[in-house]
Amino acid sequence: MNSQRVVEVFRWSAAAAVLIGIVAVYHLWLHVNPTTVALTLLLLVLFLAARWGLRYAVATSIVATLAYNYYFLPPIGTLTISDPQNWLGIFAFLTVAVVGSRLSERAREEAEDARRRQRELEVLYGLSRQLLQAENVASLLNAISPAIMLVTRADTIVLYLLDGDRRYMAGESSEIQMDDIGLRQLAQTLPSAEMVGLQARIPLRVGVRPRGLLLIDGLSRGVRLSTETLEAIGGLISVSIDRAQALEDVTRGEAAKESERLRSLMIDSITHELRTPLTAIKAAASTLLLPKTLDHEEQRELLTVIDEESDRLNQLVTEAVEMAQLDTREVHMTFAPTGVGAMVEHALANCSSLLDNREVKVNLPPLPLVMADADFITKVLTNLVENAAKYSPAGSPISISAERKEGMVSVSVADRGIGIDLSEQSLIFERFYRASVPSQQTWGTGMGLAISRAIIDAHHGTLSVTSQLGEGSVFSFTLPVVEG
Ligand code: ADP
Repeated sequence: MNSQRVVEVFRWSAAAAVLIGIVAVYHLWLHVNPTTVALTLLLLVLFLAARWGLRYAVATSIVATLAYNYYFLPPIGTLTISDPQNWLGIFAFLTVAVVGSRLSERAREEAEDARRRQRELEVLYGLSRQLLQAENVASLLNAISPAIMLVTRADTIVLYLLDGDRRYMAGESSEIQMDDIGLRQLAQTLPSAEMVGLQARIPLRVGVRPRGLLLIDGLSRGVRLSTETLEAIGGLISVSIDRAQALEDVTRGEAAKESERLRSLMIDSITHELRTPLTAIKAAASTLLLPKTLDHEEQRELLTVIDEESDRLNQLVTEAVEMAQLDTREVHMTFAPTGVGAMVEHALANCSSLLDNREVKVNLPPLPLVMADADFITKVLTNLVENAAKYSPAGSPISISAERKEGMVSVSVADRGIGIDLSEQSLIFERFYRASVPSQQTWGTGMGLAISRAIIDAHHGTLSVTSQLGEGSVFSFTLPVVEG
């Protein structure tokens, strides 16, 4: 308030000083004709109207008229006018000064109005951008108050929601002294947005039902907002809460549906896959229990069946659990810069028993480190090398190579085995899928590649195959290179 007064005093003094200056210069030193004086004074009046407003201009134009008459229109030194033409001149001066001032002031107001509207639009735009980023209701509600404070530059923001009597604040919380009861009453009764002093009160609604209240305090230090803009802010908040709510509902629904689908798929497949080893175990055990005597050799054979089939059962269950955990992202992976060479070595050590009498060619050029969980990638490599050994004739070579490709390292495992038919190449990555005829001779769960693909996906890489029936297969996966 005080500073405003100081500004006013300064403006009045400045206007008076310039007026006196003009009159003095023309009266005492520069002797020009009265028209020049009138035009100079007019310039001052228009300047005041354009910069500081109508009241300065009108007051100055009245004083200027009197001074003009007194000092420049004959008889000089009196307020009387002898020549009727000069009456006309002075009247014209006053009229032009007042009309010109009004026009200048209107132009000034319009420019200010346009600036204010632009600022309001910026506020709404900034707010909508910030509010539409939130993905869930909780983070949105926490983000609203700081976002409004940022765009309006107000001191304090309180967002109050009737549902659960929740209050979200930003800024100097002590400035708004209102308890929950006061807020609730106001939220339920406020018909439309209003300004009370420096405080904006905006009702929030769902349809026509009250939902809550937004208080913006200390707006003077920030931006001036019209009631339409305040209403628009209220609408924006309601819409963004509805949107986040809907998004959350949809995500929750989809996640539940997907997890249900995966669960039933898993149960179907597992029961089907478990049946084969279980049937074999049951048959062997029943035969062993029969009263008829079996010789030692036969007994051993049946016990071996039970032993092997139990191992398979065990592997099946372990892999199924692993797959389920990968599906539901319950597996914890630790990504760290890792060398491909070490993982290849580990994988080869893991399947050394399968690689007896095999030539394994490892061809690794100098490579950058990759961002990976070493244990999981070793698992993928082990699976690919095991498959290469399982699905190729004993003694045929297996090659492991790697190369850098656009920010990724691509690792390949190639064999000269039975190959995979083109129609089955995408299916083998599905869980429990095993390629037709040839692979039936080799035991497997059909889970290895599905697990491997899930692991590589989690690394933001890809796992793919190129293969020709009877010629061999190349399985390749990519891993991101460590930046910098
Ligand atoms: P599993 O080997 O236990 O059957 P995988 O998921 O590892 O399960 O592989 C799925 C199927 O893909 C295999 O059953 C086999 O038919 C085919 N396959 C995988 N690797 C190869 C390979 N190197 N050569 C030929 N066929 C392969």
